[in-house]
Amino acid sequence: MDFGLSSEQLALQESVRRFMRKRVAPLVAEHEKREQFAWELLPELRQFGYIGGLLPEEAGGYGMRFGDWALLMEQAGYHWLSMRVLLNALNIIASLLHRNATPAQRERFLKPLLNCEKRFWVGITEPNHGSNVAGIETKAVDKGDHYLVNGGKLWITNGAGGDCGVLVVKTYSDGCDGGLSLLLVDRDETKYAARRVGTMFIKSTGTSELNFADAVVPKENLLGKEGEGLKAILSGLNYGRLNVAMGAVGAAQAALDLSIEYAKNRKQFGRVIGGYQLVQKLIVDMTVRTEAARALGYKAAWALDQGGTARAECSIAKLYATEAAHEVASMALQVHGGLGYSVDYPIERIFRDTRGGMIPEGTSEIQTLIIGREILGISAFR
Ligand SMILES: Cc1cc2nc3c(=O)[nH]c(=O)nc-3n(C[C@H](O)[C@H](O)[C@H](O)COP(=O)(O)OP(=O)(O)OC[C@H]3O[C@@H](n4cnc5c(N)ncnc54)[C@H](O)[C@@H]3O)c2cc1C
Repeated sequence: MDFGLSSEQLALQESVRRFMRKRVAPLVAEHEKREQFAWELLPELRQFGYIGGLLPEEAGGYGMRFGDWALLMEQAGYHWLSMRVLLNALNIIASLLHRNATPAQRERFLKPLLNCEKRFWVGITEPNHGSNVAGIETKAVDKGDHYLVNGGKLWITNGAGGDCGVLVVKTYSDGCDGGLSLLLVDRDETKYAARRVGTMFIKSTGTSELNFADAVVPKENLLGKEGEGLKAILSGLNYGRLNVAMGAVGAAQAALDLSIEYAKNRKQFGRVIGGYQLVQKLIVDMTVRTEAARALGYKAAWALDQGGTARAECSIAKLYATEAAHEVASMALQVHGGLGYSVDYPIERIFRDTRGGMIPEGTSEIQTLIIGREILGISAFR
């Protein structure tokens, strides 16, 4: 058993950390205020593997292992959870394209994604169907050389600002009676309405509502086979859980570091507050939760590197890390007193953003059902 990082991993972690401090940290507060992402960062992030790094080199990736990938997601979460959310969506799409795209689709969609030339979204959730992905209602009806799409999507990361997307639809054709499929949507070619929805967290990345009314999607934009979309999307969500978990670990560590610094310097009743046992208890509880979450995240990454689906490990890491991160952020707010809820100080943003982690890639309740099913071999979903 080895709990240490290799010298290569330590070097990667250090160079990413330096980059984040220099290039990302100075942009966060202003972009959060403007509710805009700093898109100019993407090509720079790519050098570390943040865009499609898990893909093999021949597909335009870096052939990274999940263990190294986890370190990237942790650093992204440490500095800007909104950025981590966007990176997650882009990488789920890259993985869907890599596994399912035809050579022409790779050229047209995967290449501009990896080169950061086009902005992408993935549309699964609908107003009436979130946790139950299989129940979605957006319809694509085969009309010969194209599909006619009708329906709406909600809470879509980067939806309104995106150039292209992967849309999950219920398909009706000669060979498919309502099975889920994936369609590649290009805004220059398919007309749809998009509206940004205001949210409490992840303000810079933004989330949107998309509406398709008799929208035309060419047949050649079918990604993978008709009726095989559910399997494809669920496998993407599984590895997305590692991303969410490690982003949460990073955010928890950021809240903890700020709290340690503050507790060592803030004085009340003539001594630093870190000298009071009750404040130490908060710092210790935050540390224990952050360390436990990190250990679960690294274990999930290790399990994925062994080649399996690591379904239980990814769900356990996601469930624990996202809940722990929000608890840690709440304790950090307590350590900081009034300063903790000031919008001019990062704890307030970390507190809001960590709340978001418990919802996407399967809510905490859905993770619990997945873990229960893995342990007992009995599904409690319905
Ligand atoms: C930051 C963020 C980014 C997102 N990005 C995207 C995106 O890019 N693309 C996309 O398609 N979606 C995205 N989503 C949407 C997200 O995936 C859904 O919100 C999520 O799957 C939950 O669906 P819902 O909101 O419809 O809630 P519901 O499924 O309606 O759930 C409501 C409540 O009921 C509980 N519940 C549901 N079923 C069960 C059950 N069987 N047993 C017990 N409890 C249950 C849930 O846990 C939850 O507490 C994003 C969400 C967030 C917060």
